[in-house]
Amino acid sequence: MIENQKNQSVSVTRANTIIVGAGAAGMNAATKLLEFQRIAGAENAADGLLVVTGGLALGASRMSGSDKQTYYKMGTSPSVPDTAEDFAATLTAFGCCHGDTALAEGIGSLRSFYHLVEAGVPFPHDPSGAFIGYKTDHDPAERATSAGPKTSRFMSECLQAVVERAGVRIIDKHPVLRFVTTGAGADKRIVAMICLDLTTGGDEAPIAVFAADNWILAGGGPGEIYQSTVYPRGQTGIHAPALQAGLAACNLTESQYGLASIKFRWNVSGTYMQVIPRIFSTDSGGGDEREFLTEYFDDMPSMATNIFLKGYQWPFDAQRITGCQSSLIDMAVHQETVVRGRRVWMDFLHNPVGTGGWDEFDSGALGAEAGDYLARTGALQALPIERLAHMNPPAIELYAEHDIDLHSEPLEIAVCAQHMNGGFAVDRWWQSNIPHTFVIGEMAGTHGVKRPGGSALNAGQVGALRSAEYIACANSRDSSKDKNRDDPINVAAAEAIAEINGMLEASESASQTPRDVMEDIRLRMTRFGAHLRSRPAAREALDAALGQYKRLSEEGIKLTGPDQLPQAVAAMQQCLTHIAMLKAICAMFDRGAGSRGSHCILDDDGVEMHPRLIDPETDRPYRFKEENEALRNEIVEITFNAEADDLFETTVVPPRPMPANDTAFETAWAKFREGGIYDKELL
Ligand SMILES: Cc1cc2nc3c(=O)[nH]c(=O)nc-3n(C[C@H](O)[C@H](O)[C@H](O)COP(=O)(O)OP(=O)(O)OC[C@H]3O[C@@H](n4cnc5c(N)ncnc54)[C@H](O)[C@@H]3O)c2cc1C
Repeated sequence: MIENQKNQSVSVTRANTIIVGAGAAGMNAATKLLEFQRIAGAENAADGLLVVTGGLALGASRMSGSDKQTYYKMGTSPSVPDTAEDFAATLTAFGCCHGDTALAEGIGSLRSFYHLVEAGVPFPHDPSGAFIGYKTDHDPAERATSAGPKTSRFMSECLQAVVERAGVRIIDKHPVLRFVTTGAGADKRIVAMICLDLTTGGDEAPIAVFAADNWILAGGGPGEIYQSTVYPRGQTGIHAPALQAGLAACNLTESQYGLASIKFRWNVSGTYMQVIPRIFSTDSGGGDEREFLTEYFDDMPSMATNIFLKGYQWPFDAQRITGCQSSLIDMAVHQETVVRGRRVWMDFLHNPVGTGGWDEFDSGALGAEAGDYLARTGALQALPIERLAHMNPPAIELYAEHDIDLHSEPLEIAVCAQHMNGGFAVDRWWQSNIPHTFVIGEMAGTHGVKRPGGSALNAGQVGALRSAEYIACANSRDSSKDKNRDDPINVAAAEAIAEINGMLEASESASQTPRDVMEDIRLRMTRFGAHLRSRPAAREALDAALGQYKRLSEEGIKLTGPDQLPQAVAAMQQCLTHIAMLKAICAMFDRGAGSRGSHCILDDDGVEMHPRLIDPETDRPYRFKEENEALRNEIVEITFNAEADDLFETTVVPPRPMPANDTAFETAWAKFREGGIYDKELL
């Protein structure tokens, strides 16, 4: 038997506010709390603040990106007018998005953007100082900018430097085990967090306990639950402990999927596609090269133009498949890899190759949008690699840093999960349904069905700003502190130690290792909970997931030693997280779900995608149900309930409208002076 943890004495680290997660969102929350507390007159603003993370070097912000990773903000081009209401209208256009958070994201966007510029993020500007924009997916104006392939990494690092200069403590290598709550209803609070402490380096993973009045959860997306994923390795997120604490989640059905390289995980959006590489497939051993895209397009201009368009129409989009549009490419790649078991590659050394009777690739024959763009950017070189070197050398260097030389080798790609638009429900100050607990960044479910590329990073910055302001300016006025919190914390700490010991004891008779569990989860999500979904398959997957969770809860997980505890904890948490997502998918089917955003609902009576795209389940062309637009006005929220049939209860709420901004200055000023802007009555 594996030796138990023994006699661990647990001390509690206390702070006024604890931020969980150290990506671009969490780091900005720390800088903003420092600022607001200084403004409020705090002598040493860093004292009451703590950042705790599972991995300082981990997370999407620090490890992910694309050709030029996009930051979407209100327009800054000197000749293009823009307003926060127009910005919010773009964010809410496809439904299931609250108008008040969307407006706040518009209003807060330039303040947040310039804060990043001041922190040192190298966003490019022209000789007059104007930050020129470009167009991204679902973006009608040129609101996007970029600091290169690693924008979000620069953001996290520059913000971290600010935080460290101020002396804020960052506690690394502490994955969350669970949150401790007291009270119920409006009095419910998170009072503590129990983490595994991975800093000791020994065999055992002792626990560490943190207590705070305010919490900002910035744990990122649930990247580990998919088999085909471009999320960075180790990005588990903290959805399961947050759900178990009672936080309501929303829009868990909405995630983004798209083409990404898989040897080194990176999005192949933007210039990687706009230079129009050859895309081909091989058998599993790398032989038998085929120009498979020619099966789906009628001629070279149509195929080449759609490869170009995939650049800024990057996410798989249910509404861009029929009629030979750009998402037909994602489906063709899916068909080639998942259905036919082949591998797909991007080749920057050759232009697209056609089939019998097709013209050769000719940039002069491209559709207007592609042809004009390449001409305007001077990217008319003979080969894709030359066009890429001309338009975006850092995009080549990026792969070189990871030992992939685009000058000499093709890039293997697949359709991967990339971002979660849903998450936890928040109000317009990014406060969750549990007062004093805020959720920001990718963990917050503020995006709705579709979002413009780059708006995730903006939303993370604005959520950080808003939650920090609320904590510093509204919660500090709140004197209703519960002084008797130590008892539940001690009880929970003892339970956590018992849980860990129980996991070690149960391990001997358990059948599945953490790796087995994760393989099941990932396969289930990629097959049934990703870009292609069907009602019977989703229900079957949910039942299988519930069965697995029950079995693991009773039997435990097989471990080779205590050093595997973190993996076992993560596997249990991921199991609950994927149940939540499958439950949300099933709940949407009950409401009449159609295809929308970045997923298709397969349906025998639906619209044919393409005669050559054959569904292996039916041996007939894939058919999908069109969007049920009425559901744009319904947000499905789910909350954990261990007693409920599927472990979760669902409710439906309408999107909140965009607030009107017609208050006279004097009225607004009075409300601001008196603290009336903090909507206390709404909480
Ligand atoms: C390939 C790729 C390209 C992208 N491109 C763009 C783009 O161009 N524009 C855009 O706007 N967005 C883009 N996104 C999305 C965007 O990068 C993320 O949504 C954003 O960086 C998330 O920031 P965050 O701070 O919320 O979370 P993260 O940066 O993911 O940070 C999460 C933090 O939580 C910690 N953590 C995780 N799990 C635990 C745990 N169990 N316990 C304790 N701590 C934990 C992590 O260690 C990390 O510190 C892209 C994403 C990917 C994957």
